[in-house]
Amino acid sequence: MTKLLMFNSLDDEVDVIKNWQASHPDIVIDTNKETLTPETVDLVKGYDGLLIQQDNLIDDPKVYQKLHSFGIKQISLRTTGYETIDLKEAAANDLTITNVPAYSPRSVSELVLAHTMWLLRHLNVAAQREGHNDFTWDNLQAHEIHELTVGIIGAGKIGSEVARVFKALGANIIASDPIHRPELNSVLTYVDQQTVFEQADIITMHTPLLSSTYHMVDEAAFKAMKPSAIFINASRGAVVNTPALLAALKNKDIAAAGIDTIENEANIFSKDFSHKDQPNSWLNELLSLDNATVSPHIGFYTDIAVKNMVEISLEDALRIIAGKHGQHEIELPEK
Ligand code: NAD
Repeated sequence: MTKLLMFNSLDDEVDVIKNWQASHPDIVIDTNKETLTPETVDLVKGYDGLLIQQDNLIDDPKVYQKLHSFGIKQISLRTTGYETIDLKEAAANDLTITNVPAYSPRSVSELVLAHTMWLLRHLNVAAQREGHNDFTWDNLQAHEIHELTVGIIGAGKIGSEVARVFKALGANIIASDPIHRPELNSVLTYVDQQTVFEQADIITMHTPLLSSTYHMVDEAAFKAMKPSAIFINASRGAVVNTPALLAALKNKDIAAAGIDTIENEANIFSKDFSHKDQPNSWLNELLSLDNATVSPHIGFYTDIAVKNMVEISLEDALRIIAGKHGQHEIELPEK
């Protein structure tokens, strides 16, 4: 019997676990809503392995040392980012770290489509008018998607799926990415970043957040875009200079923006501020604009993605506990 402990489990993950366990009766998986910390690490005693979430910062060496002393061989993240893990401490304590590099690129691409179509068809404006029983058609005439050029910045796992989704609807697709993938030649045309900014009717961000991509969309980038452009960010908030985005929306340098990720969202998205103020003033400003739509970082959040996050991390954990290699091991520094 193998016993696993899942920290920070969400209710929908628990449902996935229940289904999974039905076909794996020899594996026990207990779940909790705790974060793995020096205070909670003793909960792992008696288990063979553990699964955690990306936002679980583990910066205290004691956690790694205790896990090692309990005979634990791995920490499996159910998410992609692993910057919260001290890889040196993991290596020093013989802990293999795994992540889930792609849980469903399609999930994010469909949210990009949803933001785009909502803004393209002026449904944001219609919804605001309907709030006071105004059902007029002024300024609601729209373009059709197949007349337009979609510009993708970063055509990796998610960006290439975005390209396929819009290509299927007949749009022209251009993309900038330092890596050119021959398999995408039938879907998109590679151009430089400035050409995407200048020529695309819809500009959508899909790069990682790196020092080279931090604030890559700034005032100059927004000024280069068409005044009719729709800008979408479902990557990482800080690839966009948020004050520049707010200015571009207010000055009508661009027509509209669909935002799933924003700078300093960490303690806001997924939390409920119904009866109090939320502390991100940029987000407040964005929400007050009639040409922006905001979703709370839910690009990834579909049934298929949650199932993949849980099942891929579980399979890796079990492989490592059984003495095999996990399929998504993070490279660790030398001891
Ligand atoms: P990926 O690594 O597969 O692709 C990223 C691509 O960006 C690569 O092809 C890379 O070459 C390219 N790139 C890097 N620097 C660039 C630059 N300066 N200009 C143009 N292209 C550049 O990553 P992915 O899995 O497709 O993820 C893309 C983004 O989506 C990441 O920021 C990730 O964190 C984010 N994401 C968001 C959600 C969500 O819920 N909104 C979910 C998952 C991932």
